[in-house]
Amino acid sequence: MQRETPPPFHVLWLQAGSCGGCTMSALGAEPAGLSDALARANISFLWHPSLAEEGGGDVLRLLERCRSGAQAIDALCIEGAILTGPNGTGKFQILAGSGRPMAWWVGELARHARFVVAVGSCAAYGAIPAAQTVPTEACGLQYCGEDPGGLLGDGWMSAGGLPVINVAGCAPHPGWLVETLTALKAGELRANDLDSYGRPRFWANHLAHHGCARNEYYEFKASAAAHSHLGCLMENLGCKGTQAPGDCSFRLWNGGRSCPDTGYACINCTSPGFEEPVGAFLETPKIAGIPIGLPVDMPKAWFVALSALSKSATPERVRKNAREDHVVVPPRRRSSS
Ligand code: SF4
Ligand code: SF4
Repeated sequence: MQRETPPPFHVLWLQAGSCGGCTMSALGAEPAGLSDALARANISFLWHPSLAEEGGGDVLRLLERCRSGAQAIDALCIEGAILTGPNGTGKFQILAGSGRPMAWWVGELARHARFVVAVGSCAAYGAIPAAQTVPTEACGLQYCGEDPGGLLGDGWMSAGGLPVINVAGCAPHPGWLVETLTALKAGELRANDLDSYGRPRFWANHLAHHGCARNEYYEFKASAAAHSHLGCLMENLGCKGTQAPGDCSFRLWNGGRSCPDTGYACINCTSPGFEEPVGAFLETPKIAGIPIGLPVDMPKAWFVALSALSKSATPERVRKNAREDHVVVPPRRRSSS
């Protein structure tokens, strides 16, 4: 007897105030790309602005059917911040052909979706389009920076009984998105699987520091002075990996690890407010020589004491290699005799 194929889990994806980078990142889902990863889980797009063939009137008719409830939405994925300006009208972003602001469409469609997923930190918290110098009056779906609220409001729940699920990041790891959608489809993502900012714990309970290839340099506080150096990027080059939620240093991304592995300091892109650091992105602000952004869970006095001890015990190999772009002092071989 032939088994009946269950109906697909339908995802509707809209792009609000966004650079499109979250879609670009999602396309790199491994091992075979986003479409394949979703198809394996029987997840399909009702529409996606970059991936679907339909445009114009076809899309508007689809959105109207979703809004009326005639077409069910399992997950509404929003990429980009919600632009509510000028003066709360939302007219900075009109959905082409509809005459209606994107903010209005998102609010309407969210009422009919089983789940709502913010794809990226802009959709989650406002992020780059909400930075203070940008006049867009941007916000996230359920947060404005660190403050609960956003477009949908504090305490808002989707029909499926969850708040907005924040797959944060700039851009988020494609695996975070695919696994979130897969878990929602399977009924395996519940309220207590989300952290205090609505991020799925399966990735947000880790830190970007975990598994960083520079961990040995961190342990001995052997710091890089330039981005090409092998040393830890925390002391001088702005790395916030010890504060940033994410498993991005041990979950492969395009075959490699994450930002610090490439010489680019972690900027804590999964957290609200990352877009406005104290000082420049790739510099470490300090007071009296001590970085002001210390690792989470570590009191300042401990950090200072541990740093002094570590530096006094740094092996020559680690100290020298930290300021080079390749290993100049290899590990000593122990004699087997
Ligand atoms: S570069 Fe950043 S993430 Fe890597 S070990 Fe240093 S502090 Fe941790
Ligand atoms: S390493 Fe840091 S900046 Fe890079 S993706 Fe992870 S959390 Fe974001």
